[in-house]
Amino acid sequence: MPSSGASSGIGAATARALAVNGYRVALLARRVDRIQALADELGDGALAVEADVTDRASLVAAAERVKAEFGGTDILVNNAGMMLLGPFSTEQKDDYRQMIEVNLIGAITATEIFLDQLRDGGGDLVNISSVAGRTARPGNGVYAATKWGINGWSESLRQELQPGIRVTVIEPGAVATELPSHITHEQTRAGAEALYSQVVVTAEDIAEVIAFAVTRPRHLTINEILLRPAGQA
Ligand code: NDP
Repeated sequence: MPSSGASSGIGAATARALAVNGYRVALLARRVDRIQALADELGDGALAVEADVTDRASLVAAAERVKAEFGGTDILVNNAGMMLLGPFSTEQKDDYRQMIEVNLIGAITATEIFLDQLRDGGGDLVNISSVAGRTARPGNGVYAATKWGINGWSESLRQELQPGIRVTVIEPGAVATELPSHITHEQTRAGAEALYSQVVVTAEDIAEVIAFAVTRPRHLTINEILLRPAGQA
């Protein structure tokens, strides 16, 4: 079970939840110290694989390693993401490119690379979208565009790959993770971090939902799960 962005937040929690359910988990991310510590914690059946979803060669190498170590892939979780919010402006232009490359093209690339492994034995493709894939707000335009993109692409794949591969889209509202800490627009980051410090929904809450979705009997597909903290508008 490869999960991108497994070094923190929802990706790390999902790896833990799926390991509890008996899956062997491949932890993909750039921060090797983090994924290695998690692999050590999870023990046998967990593999730390350095991978940058914006670097196709590193994903190809990751897929080869997963194939060699695990024999194939049952579930691919496209979770790696950046949420670089801020007022729409030229000053944020690098953020826009980065979000599109990580959130959208990264997920597409990982999927086209791992697809043969998923096809070998059926499987599950889980794409982590967001409430922002359904509703756009001032200051989140490009982030929302990447998540709307994930939703449209996932719906196409759902129809194309069924019934062998199930496609599930997860759309969380605010979840207490490191996500806002990467925002480059200082005022926006301060506001987002203050907001996120009040968020009570945890990465584990989301991971539990993902584990539920992929452990349903194969005759049932959960296409989409939209979940918000109680009280979020
Ligand atoms: P975190 O910041 O905790 O995790 C993001 C993960 O993405 C990290 O593990 C990071 O790993 C990885 N990542 C970023 N860039 C790359 C890259 N180029 N290659 C590989 N991995 C990368 O945030 P969350 O857990 O909250 O975010 C996970 C997903 O959930 C994202 O797609 C996000 O959009 C989505 N989401 C989050 C919500 C929230 O409120 N927290 C709400 C809705 C959706 P590393 O830096 O080690 O490479």
